[in-house]
Amino acid sequence: MHLKSIELQGFKSFIHKTKLEFGPGVSVIVGPNGSGKSNITDAIRWVLGEQSVKTLRGSKMEDVIFSGTKKRKPLGMAEVCLVLDNSDGFLPLEFNEVSIIRRTYRSGEGEYLINNAPCRLKDIHQLFQDTGMGTDGFSIISQGKVDEILSAKAEDRRSIIEETAGIVKYRNRKKEAARKLQDTEQSLDRIRDIIYELA
Ligand code: ATP
Repeated sequence: MHLKSIELQGFKSFIHKTKLEFGPGVSVIVGPNGSGKSNITDAIRWVLGEQSVKTLRGSKMEDVIFSGTKKRKPLGMAEVCLVLDNSDGFLPLEFNEVSIIRRTYRSGEGEYLINNAPCRLKDIHQLFQDTGMGTDGFSIISQGKVDEILSAKAEDRRSIIEETAGIVKYRNRKKEAARKLQDTEQSLDRIRDIIYELA
């Protein structure tokens, strides 16, 4: 799997529709300070479902929408479309190409689409879980992240290793199964009480 392209419109400083295409291998984005390089990594995080405004270097979610300049009015919507090459079947979808779209409006409404079909944020998270590319993944190493990992507590470092090893989904499934088991135990207790009362 590799990132084929990213298209931004109304996202942060990208007022006009802007498409960046990437080939396999290493790509480098260069530009002067403040030209929008980090905004591109923010866009990748955002389209993959990032919910933390702090991680996106803003103070509210609306900050991802182009906020206007002296000459240009603010826009009402931000949209990012990420296209991934999935010809190796790395993502569990039967498509050679997978597109993810996220839109958000100033009203606070928004939507996600996988290959143009509307979906939930949960579907995006599940699609990328344990691939190392989701919002909890380590495909984006921001400034200061290396120091943070080195000085992290042992448990936090363990969760990084677990995510990288791809076992988070099994941990989540175990948690879900334990919760269902507990619900079932409670239902059984209720049934036992009723049987006791009737006997
Ligand atoms: P550096 O090399 O200094 O790290 P950079 O190329 O990574 O810079 P970014 O941080 O991506 O630059 O871009 C910052 C620019 O994006 C600033 O000029 C800022 O005003 C602009 N910007 C951020 N959010 C918005 C927004 N919502 N609307 C318009 N412009 C925005």
